[in-house]
Amino acid sequence: MTAQAPFDLIFRNALLRSSAAPADIGVKSGRIAAIAPRLACEAVEVDLGGHLTLPGFVDTHIHLDKACLLGRCGHDHGSVSEAIRAVAGMKKNFTVDDVYARGAKVLERAIVHGTTRMRTHVEIDPRIGLRGFEAVKALKDAYAWAIALELCVFPQEGLTNDPGAEELLIQALRNGGEAIGGCPYMDTEPHAHLARIFDLAEEFDVDVDLHLDFDLDPSWWHLDEVCRQTERRNYGGRVAIGHATKLSALPPERMKAAAVQLARAGVAVTVLPATDLYLMGREATHNAPRGLTLAHKLAADGVVCSVATNNVLNPFTPFGDASLLRMANFYANVAHASVSDFDICLDLVTELPARLMNLRDYGIEVGNPADLIVLDTTDGRFAIAELPDILMGFKSGRQTFARQRPTLLSPKN
Ligand SMILES: [Zn+2]
Repeated sequence: MTAQAPFDLIFRNALLRSSAAPADIGVKSGRIAAIAPRLACEAVEVDLGGHLTLPGFVDTHIHLDKACLLGRCGHDHGSVSEAIRAVAGMKKNFTVDDVYARGAKVLERAIVHGTTRMRTHVEIDPRIGLRGFEAVKALKDAYAWAIALELCVFPQEGLTNDPGAEELLIQALRNGGEAIGGCPYMDTEPHAHLARIFDLAEEFDVDVDLHLDFDLDPSWWHLDEVCRQTERRNYGGRVAIGHATKLSALPPERMKAAAVQLARAGVAVTVLPATDLYLMGREATHNAPRGLTLAHKLAADGVVCSVATNNVLNPFTPFGDASLLRMANFYANVAHASVSDFDICLDLVTELPARLMNLRDYGIEVGNPADLIVLDTTDGRFAIAELPDILMGFKSGRQTFARQRPTLLSPKN
């Protein structure tokens, strides 16, 4: 009797961020079984050619249900409230099939851009009911072969001021909602809104991911209340806030104090460059403020941070290709990141969002699923600097996409 082979697949010459020289990755039944130079085995081999190999990008904040709406609204929306109003008007007519088709388009682009984990915020309220939720749940199942999708349900139009929203939210949490979001700036009772969201989070034992402090006036904010609720309920490490653009308006010493407060409470911050830059600072006629919170600085001060996509081709953000590498490059450029910051900028779309989402099996390590993507570069900093092509991706050892290098057609050939 022959001994069972230790691997059924070997990735040769994978350049990991943690090592200077390429290594081999042995895979058994979809999981990483060994990482070492020159593994000896008779298994199927895939040569990664010494290219930078990452465990895939992690998008903590995207809205699949309201993506790709540009063709339906023929005017520009220059403020948060205009964008919310425009989508609220359209979503009454969303069907499950419609949300599914638009979400699938974005999800497929995210997959070929190397995203392997994603938290999508799903609107739940009496206008849309649970139709968006049902569609996104179906997307989660249909694309599980390529991406692990987590559903964060939230009341975009407010909670205490929107009768019926809470009952629907509870139904969604009973039927597959995996995290809960909130939008206190849309509520007439922001603190009651937050208290109720935290109550539900505790009741259903799910993480909290809020839309918060989405303007440039730092004279008031909900951040203190979120930190207070988090600490009071011992929920540190399970709470994130998205946008937090007020932080971008703080002078350095106040920013430092906010970082200490967030790190101590265990509240993470997600920066959404495409939306924040599009919607903030519009009242300025010149020298417009960027409205972009400096996630790499907060991260250096111990706050768990991520850079994420948010909206794609809708009134909140009429841009988007669901590429997190492009978003990290865009962030780094606008945030005045230096070359020495590029590594942390790559962390903002990989390791740090995995921590934000409490993903315990993320990373190229023995025991984890063999999820990996291969970039046409040899250095993490170059990944941010030059936006290399993402050549291929794997989920649990199975290839999910391939990208051909472009061919130059020189007249001399
Ligand atoms: Zn959002």
